[in-house]
Amino acid sequence: MADKAKEMPRTLKGFRDFLPADKAARDFLEQRVVAVFERFGFQPVETPTLEYASLIMGKYGEDADRLVYSFEDRGGRRVALPYDQTVPSARVLAQHRRDLPRYFRRYAIRNVFRAENPQRGRYREFKQCDIDIFGSRSPLSDAEIVACTYFSFAEVGFRDARVRINDRRALVEALEPFATPDVDVFSVIRSIDKLDKIDADGVVKELASKGLDEAQARRALDTVSALEPSENLAAVLGAVRALGVPDEAIEFSPMLARGLDYYTGAIFEVTVPSFASGSLAGGGRYDELIEQLGGPETPAVGIAFGFDRMVEAATQLNLLPEALGGTDVLVAIFGEDTLDASLAAAARLRAAGLRCEVYPATDKMGKQFKLADQKRIPLVVVIGPDEAAQNSATLRDMRGGEQSVVAIDELVGAVKQRLG
Ligand code: AMP
Repeated sequence: MADKAKEMPRTLKGFRDFLPADKAARDFLEQRVVAVFERFGFQPVETPTLEYASLIMGKYGEDADRLVYSFEDRGGRRVALPYDQTVPSARVLAQHRRDLPRYFRRYAIRNVFRAENPQRGRYREFKQCDIDIFGSRSPLSDAEIVACTYFSFAEVGFRDARVRINDRRALVEALEPFATPDVDVFSVIRSIDKLDKIDADGVVKELASKGLDEAQARRALDTVSALEPSENLAAVLGAVRALGVPDEAIEFSPMLARGLDYYTGAIFEVTVPSFASGSLAGGGRYDELIEQLGGPETPAVGIAFGFDRMVEAATQLNLLPEALGGTDVLVAIFGEDTLDASLAAAARLRAAGLRCEVYPATDKMGKQFKLADQKRIPLVVVIGPDEAAQNSATLRDMRGGEQSVVAIDELVGAVKQRLG
């Protein structure tokens, strides 16, 4: 033994492990969301974990660029981890446009990476679930994105989820008169985007520190707050309603800015009032990004769900079922003599589609039951010499402790009946 205790290995700050209970909850939620995505005709796409850094950099704005993980690979190339899925998807469109249908709609689910200061609801590696529609400028596609978003959150059980909507173009037009050579309109928007976090005085102070006159900064905020929905937004809102989204789930928010630079039209954000750790989804229209990447002119609109925050909010609001993804039966190992009979029982249960674990040793029965309890496995099958002699098995229900002896041929039926 070394004198010094070995240092415990640990995850990097902002990166997390998910043990089975958390992972099962995450998988459950992901399946619900995917079911709605597919109900809206979105098809899955996957993009790689490394991209050229030149693709990722310069698309989001300087604040975000600083958060991109980039490094030189072994071949001397500058590479980067995805900051979101919008830019990699725009690359897919630019690269594969000819192989894709005209009005392509896809969903994509993957982890993205941002070198942020970790805190609750803010991680360095987190999962985003994106839906996007390419090729259409129609407000109908914006409305489909909003409706699919609403129904995805509703499917998980979020009753009070709000989709906030604004028109980024109208915002830019209203703010342009306030921009100066030192503080361009995007910089003004990035500050206004922080309104939820640092309130109006904070935004004015930040704009002043950037070099805007304080009175002008205040006037800019007042002008924006008085805006009405643009004609384009009114068309989106009308279609959203016709698609069956209740009025109270949608909110026109003239101050909503979204921090990223690539948005060109409608912008969206999802919040759940009872969840304090930030927005649960964000997106909008980005009609110029694909062309900017060298692809053909391809209008696009989409949204990214912050999956980790969805899981946290769903957990906080008790929206997840208690027992998830667990094993149905533990087959105990009584001893060498009945080993084959026990394994044959496990094979039978599995062939019937039941989730079955074989105890991997010949410990005392009490220990084997304890493992079932610890893992919350509701049923245990025991085949000892008596059971083996009669071609039967003892079925123990860990929830109440009842035991019954059943014929091997009836084991599957008995287990299914117990599971209900
Ligand atoms: P964005 O790509 O910045 O528009 O973010 C879309 C959604 O991703 C947000 O609404 C959040 O729910 C989620 N999100 C953004 N940054 C983080 C982060 N650092 N950790 C966890 N979730 C995040």
